Amino acid sequence: MQAVVKRLARSGESIGLVPTMGALHEGHLSLVRRARRENDIVIVSIFVNPTQFGPNEDYLRYPRPFAKDVKLCRAAGVDYVFHPSVKAMFPDGFQNFIAPGPVSLPLCGKFRPGHFRGVATVVAKLFNITLPGRAYFGMKDFQQVRVIETMAEDLNMPVRIVRAPTVRERSGLALSSRNQYLSRPERLASPRIREALQRAGEMLECGREKSLAKIRKTAVSIIKRIPGARIQYFELCDPATLAPLRSRKLPALAAAAVFVGNTRLIDNLLIQK
Ligand code: AMP
Repeated sequence: MQAVVKRLARSGESIGLVPTMGALHEGHLSLVRRARRENDIVIVSIFVNPTQFGPNEDYLRYPRPFAKDVKLCRAAGVDYVFHPSVKAMFPDGFQNFIAPGPVSLPLCGKFRPGHFRGVATVVAKLFNITLPGRAYFGMKDFQQVRVIETMAEDLNMPVRIVRAPTVRERSGLALSSRNQYLSRPERLASPRIREALQRAGEMLECGREKSLAKIRKTAVSIIKRIPGARIQYFELCDPATLAPLRSRKLPALAAAAVFVGNTRLIDNLLIQK
């Protein structure tokens, strides 16, 4: 892969990278289309990264419909699918990891120790392997975007990080490869997560309710209407540092992680001034 991209770079071609774990859906494809418009060469990486999963998470059962993914990539005009083995990426003796900073600690970082260390490390490797001028990330995983943005900036990585908006079902549910784990009733109820984020956003914007605790409580009560939901977190935070808000201010990020049955769903809403 590196030999291929070096050759392309020599002939002046711009390279866009879309890192994924596969099981591609319209969310991924929106990133691919954007990359297609903005670069000469588009590379999609498909790698289910073991270092970003916790011991009790879904690494083994994570969907891997590789042939279908390749078809979708081909139809979207992708030039290269990079699909390395785990052994190629993390051979015996592998020992160096990226240690992400404070943006990796709250929200998902609190409940998935080591997750962003694994993400940052694999993304740094993918950058070094594919040498992209631009790399595309979805705001569905907002904290991941901040981890990657700060990593690229702090370590002077010569890549522009492009943020792309979250693609949703008509119901409002954010598209996710994990949605296929949901039963029908779970899927029907899950749009409440988005509803809760929006309600919190409206209350923050409108400014009548000054108490962040009350705004949180209202949002949480909406999510609790999902049968079998367990809220891991619902936070209002600063969209740059991801530190919890202490008082009402904009811009803000409302972010949630909810177990619906056994499926962990995350979503967020950026509330602008
Ligand atoms: P994943 O395969 O889950 O690691 O996701 C690969 C990339 O696609 C990440 O940058 C995600 O943020 C992005 N992505 C996943 N779901 C969506 C979505 N619903 N809308 C936009 N981007 C998404």
